Amino acid sequence: MAVPFRRTSKTRKRKRRTHFKLSVPGMVRCPQCGEFKLAHRVCKACGYYKGNEVASND
Ligand SMILES: [Zn+2]
Repeated sequence: MAVPFRRTSKTRKRKRRTHFKLSVPGMVRCPQCGEFKLAHRVCKACGYYKGNEVASND
């Protein structure tokens, strides 16, 4: 099995981990109900998209 020749420096390690993010990007507030929702998706809480109801949760 291959073994790393050089120890990974703090800088290299930290630079690599800049891509590790806690929150999911693309979250926006729904203009209808104010809930956080995924951008370009129907709101899960109220079922609205672009100002008209397209899905209901009942
Ligand atoms: Zn909503």
